[in-house]
Amino acid sequence: MPTTIFIQPLPGNKSSRCQCPSWMAHWEKCKGIKAIVCQEFHCKNQDVLAAHVIKPMYSTKKTFVIPLCREHRAHTHDVFQIKAKGFLINIEPEESCEAV
Ligand SMILES: [Zn+2]
Ligand SMILES: [Zn+2]
Repeated sequence: MPTTIFIQPLPGNKSSRCQCPSWMAHWEKCKGIKAIVCQEFHCKNQDVLAAHVIKPMYSTKKTFVIPLCREHRAHTHDVFQIKAKGFLINIEPEESCEAV
């Protein structure tokens, strides 16, 4: 059984400390794939944006980037399940794009 991961979108996006041209480019560089679908567990929307999220069930308040549709991106007061833990990419370059 894969671990169930819940996330909560943050309002707005943080500024980047890495060389990636966008947060979506940062995510795609780390994953080595194109972001094609919203990562909310049931969502099939393919109009995706790079969203900044936290894992509210964890004490660590690290911020991650993950592709979400506009609708789920706007749910900053909700906590919801995502498809896979591996799709969360840390925003800190040392733990993501510059660690490859
Ligand atoms: Zn980057
Ligand atoms: Zn969605």
